[in-house]
Amino acid sequence: MIKLVDLNAQYQSIKAEIDEAIAKVIADAAFISGKYAKIFEEEFAAYLGVKCCIGCGNGTDALEILLKALGIGPGDEVIVPAHTWISTAESVTTAGATPVFVDTTPALYTINAALIERHITDRTKAIIPVHLYGHPAEMDTIMAIANSHGLKVLEDCAQAHGATYKGRKVGTIGHAAAFSFFPGKNLGAYGDAGGMVTNDESVAQVARMIANHGRLGKHDHALEGRNSRLDGLNAAVLSAKLHHLEAWTEARRSLAAVYDEALEREGVAVPLSLPDCKHVYHLYVVEVAGRDAVRDSLALRDIETGVHYPKALPFLKAYARFAHQQEEFPVAFESTSRILSLPMYPELQVDSAKQIAAILAESLRNSDLESSEQTLSNSSTGKS
Ligand SMILES: *Cc1c(COP(=O)(O)O)cnc(C)c1O
Repeated sequence: MIKLVDLNAQYQSIKAEIDEAIAKVIADAAFISGKYAKIFEEEFAAYLGVKCCIGCGNGTDALEILLKALGIGPGDEVIVPAHTWISTAESVTTAGATPVFVDTTPALYTINAALIERHITDRTKAIIPVHLYGHPAEMDTIMAIANSHGLKVLEDCAQAHGATYKGRKVGTIGHAAAFSFFPGKNLGAYGDAGGMVTNDESVAQVARMIANHGRLGKHDHALEGRNSRLDGLNAAVLSAKLHHLEAWTEARRSLAAVYDEALEREGVAVPLSLPDCKHVYHLYVVEVAGRDAVRDSLALRDIETGVHYPKALPFLKAYARFAHQQEEFPVAFESTSRILSLPMYPELQVDSAKQIAAILAESLRNSDLESSEQTLSNSSTGKS
């Protein structure tokens, strides 16, 4: 059985470091925020090259709290891509504002920057580009549009730890950025965890207050916030793992190259990676015709795959209130029936990747064969 992601394989490879880190937190009883959270915040800020990092409960909270810290709330509109995980749009709603969907760029899966301006209204206050699957969004164009319209840019980096755009790490380009440390993300905790980063100290201060009951100091509540803090155990796990992140990213990139080589030969649409960007392959997503049948045949050979995501956000029941039509988001709509995420994690063996690619190619040939046989039998009975 080859899993889509194998978190245990990673734990086994660094077990001693993790076990020691966890034991220390328990011995110090530094469970909420505290010493280990502070250490991780400093290390992660240094890793990105950004002034401020604030740990929080999860990536969804990070987005919502940063929107509020950027001054976004009721009556405001925020532009988000149509194709992403629901948190990107959900956080806009929970911050009191309204998400406005924009279609994605074919093969890149990030927001189509050329379509943003036509969605800007008097109420637009921010854009949330998502570096989906680990590939950076078109940040130069997005920042130029934001600057000319006075909008804030909040980067959703939940899938893109360490990805770079023209040499700059994502999360350092916009006004602020949200990271998720959900266990399956490229840098993952052992539970829910998130991080907010920014170079703007006043935004950082407000975000830190909101995440901790609006507190400035003990019993000094300047405003009503909430409880969304990074816990010590997860912070210590993240610190232990951060030292391995670059090596893990390189392993992902090597596996992606193995897949690329084997699949391009077979005419499979492999993920695009722009030359001035560093893709970190949180997910390795191909596009194939007859995706569900291909997926089933891989499952029969014990290969787990995923679909990220089967429905673009505007078409979810959760957004039925906007009554969106398929024609409004043709790229997002059409790609959802073709996308297939192949197993991808740093510990995946190169031989396994080769085997997966071969089995995928074989099942594509079989499904081609079946559809041509279908055509043949239809024409022999006079049907077209
Ligand atoms: C995972 C994810 C989030 C949310 O992170 P959580 O930690 O699960 O709340 C936000 N945006 C994207 C694109 C994600 O993949």
